Amino acid sequence: MPPFDQRIPKHDLSSGALAPLYEQVLRRNPGEDEFHQAVREVLETLAPVFAQRPEYLEGKLVERLCEPERQLIFRVPWMDDTGEVHVNRGFRVEFNSALGPYKGGLRFHPSVNLGIVKFLGFEQVFKNALTGMPIGGGKGGSDFDPKDRSDAEVMRFCQSFMTELYRHLGEYTDVPAGDIGVGGREIGYLFGQYRRITGRHESGVLTGKGLSWGGARARTEATGYGCVLFTEQMLRTRGRSLEGMRVVVSGSGNVAIYAAQKAQQLGAKVISCSDSSGAVVDEGGLDVELLQQVKEVERGRIAEYAERRGAQAKFLPGGTVWQIPCDVALPCATQNELGEQDAVALVNGGVQAVAEGANMPTTPEAVRVLREAGIAFGPGKAANAGGVATSALEMQQNASRDSWTFEYTEQRLAEIMRHVHDSSFETAERYGHPGDLVVGANAAGFEVVAEAMHAQGLI
Ligand code: GLU
Repeated sequence: MPPFDQRIPKHDLSSGALAPLYEQVLRRNPGEDEFHQAVREVLETLAPVFAQRPEYLEGKLVERLCEPERQLIFRVPWMDDTGEVHVNRGFRVEFNSALGPYKGGLRFHPSVNLGIVKFLGFEQVFKNALTGMPIGGGKGGSDFDPKDRSDAEVMRFCQSFMTELYRHLGEYTDVPAGDIGVGGREIGYLFGQYRRITGRHESGVLTGKGLSWGGARARTEATGYGCVLFTEQMLRTRGRSLEGMRVVVSGSGNVAIYAAQKAQQLGAKVISCSDSSGAVVDEGGLDVELLQQVKEVERGRIAEYAERRGAQAKFLPGGTVWQIPCDVALPCATQNELGEQDAVALVNGGVQAVAEGANMPTTPEAVRVLREAGIAFGPGKAANAGGVATSALEMQQNASRDSWTFEYTEQRLAEIMRHVHDSSFETAERYGHPGDLVVGANAAGFEVVAEAMHAQGLI
């Protein structure tokens, strides 16, 4: 095992060069807690970078990085099946296009607000840079709740959403994809409306498309698969592997399902999943096919999964998965789902590695607990980069009107995840924080974007 530096390189944001900058972020973006958290987490870990590369503090480069290039907020009116009218709010934050067109998903969930979209967009900039692909960062969504809505309602909502958003999109401009609440069905309705309004079959304008109309094989699986491939790399640096490990997964959406599937393929035993109503402990090993059937086909809840598994599985209403003793934990649900006490429980339960399948699922306090305990920790910007990286592969296939096999695409994904891991690992070492992938991922992503912004002048 390489030496692991447990000191957290805290750049004190209450004084020093970055203090007025962070103050300004707080003042300019009042009430946007998740955005503050995401900015703080990055700035605090970049101290070693600024010490070696002071030119990155010139030209207000960091201030520019914290200010989105463009923020769109729009009305989304639509009618439900009973004839009632609803008015939702739509967002698209086009954060940074120094490396390529804005790229990042759309989230449909009642919790969505500007602060959440900005936190996700900010993270996306660094994550996308880390993949080594030519994509900028953006994010969007709506406070629309697709739960219990009919297909016809979801279609009308998506059509109304795209009727405003289409004018801001394009394969060279801004390329959305899915996120929580936006999967293949929603991308289909969004693409159809874009095509109808513009009169163009512009396949590269959205990713996560169906396989018969420009989608990429392995895109659906990519975020979960990538997270597990990243975990395998992390364990490898410590002389271990996933073979025979007990893995706890939270969430039961696209990321969780395919993380569980890949972990099983690599010989691990996956024993849990969860949703907003509770957790399932399945000591027999998660039945991924049944979970897919319940969640993706029937659009049901995990309590139904537990019921059908019978004596094998236990449903814990209102519970979480963090109390279950395990070797590896993969938070794959949503932001701030793993708090300080949860991290303490994981450490006491013998956890060896934690990798974030979701975006920012681990609170800063929980990250500190894990790091101080010397647990291998894969931050989301690195560990869940496989989804967006495979979106970039989808764009590549669209641009060349090509369609790759599953095996070839998965092999490219595996190479990208190795690159993401190794560049985070080596960058951490280069800045004097060996083994610290939080510092490594933030610094490696930052270097790529900062270099491009520096070269392109004051814009
Ligand atoms: N929503 C995913 C993410 O958080 C994927 C975005 C994309 O494929 O553009 O990275």
